[in-house]
Amino acid sequence: MSTAAGKRVKIKAQKRLGELMREHFVDLDAAAGDPSRKVAWCTSVGPCEILTAMGFEVYFPENHGALLGARRVSHELIPRAVGIGYGAESCSYMTSDIGSTLAGVSPLQEAFGIAGPPTPEVLVYNTNQCREVQDWWGFYGRRDGAPVMGICPPTHVGEVTAEHVSFVRGELERLVGSIEERFGTKLDLDRLREVVALSSQASALWRRVLDTARAHPAAMTFFDGVIHMAPVILMRGSHKAIEYYEALLAELNERVTEGVGAVPDERFRIYWEGMPIWPKVRELAEKFYDLRTVVAASTYCNSWAFEEFDGGDPLEWMARTSTEIFINRDEETKQKFLVEMLDGFGIDGAIFHNARTCPNNTNSRFGMAQRIREESKLPVLVIDGDLSDLRFFSTAQTMTNIEAFVEQLAEYRR
Ligand code: SF4
Repeated sequence: MSTAAGKRVKIKAQKRLGELMREHFVDLDAAAGDPSRKVAWCTSVGPCEILTAMGFEVYFPENHGALLGARRVSHELIPRAVGIGYGAESCSYMTSDIGSTLAGVSPLQEAFGIAGPPTPEVLVYNTNQCREVQDWWGFYGRRDGAPVMGICPPTHVGEVTAEHVSFVRGELERLVGSIEERFGTKLDLDRLREVVALSSQASALWRRVLDTARAHPAAMTFFDGVIHMAPVILMRGSHKAIEYYEALLAELNERVTEGVGAVPDERFRIYWEGMPIWPKVRELAEKFYDLRTVVAASTYCNSWAFEEFDGGDPLEWMARTSTEIFINRDEETKQKFLVEMLDGFGIDGAIFHNARTCPNNTNSRFGMAQRIREESKLPVLVIDGDLSDLRFFSTAQTMTNIEAFVEQLAEYRR
């Protein structure tokens, strides 16, 4: 696509991303049909390294929820889940995923030629992001007669202390014990250390990828980020994710060196706080592109940029990094993080997405947007929407609000 402002430069690595995704899902499908392999389901910031080290193939259902949203089918599937008692205003990843199972449809069928998500032998969660995941997994645990196990760390944490880390480490040890008992297997700590090192390496590369948007013009946008973050979630702990991010980083660094921006003739830089609006990612990307405004940074994409592993105790690293994630922190810590991000990425204004079915990853409900406006002295806009459910989103109203906001940025700069 091109505009009067210039021609968009595509990210070349995207072709490899498509291949990686296909390989990943086809292999998961094969694993589910192979009695010698085991499939585990895991939350996106859950203890997947333990599962990988114990020989499980790991599937992440939140990605399926996002895919259903991106394919704009969630609103047709959610009523199915509502029909069996799930609230219409509860997590739309969960309700659209359960709805897709009840309807027997999945975007994985068309995208990768497989029947759908693999059947789990165990479902593992970490409630560091929300309690919804536990209830979501419960549906499948009952359906498939599979055990649902997980950890419940302290939430709304300010400073993460040694006591917090020690408690969560204990929870992880307990989880390992339950898996060992259920599957008659043993966790090899050296193997876990190896997987954690790979995971941390992929995560560090992902952070460097996101940091290329600190350049002026930004080498990538939030809308690129939500596509290219797939390997750091689905394949972390593997060499594939590392190789992918090395190639992507090299490409983006080249952009930085040559002064090529993701949005040509970049005028303004915006921060996106909250969940993506999956069914509208493309339209929003086009809108900002036409406004010559780059959404340069987000809380969401940073959720998988963990602190680096120093080679010590892998369980402690897992305990610390999974407790430290933004969504699990108190208001004060979140505010400090956001102000640093606005400053570090040279942001002109921030947009808070009030995602109706995800209060957990929405930070505009307790005065944060106003406090950020006061502290950063930058314009802030709150938009109503949802991660997947289009009933809560008005395209016309949101686009008008965004246009007016960008006008405000121009005024503000003057
Ligand atoms: S964090 Fe929000 S979107 Fe993600 S699983 Fe929990 S409720 Fe759903």
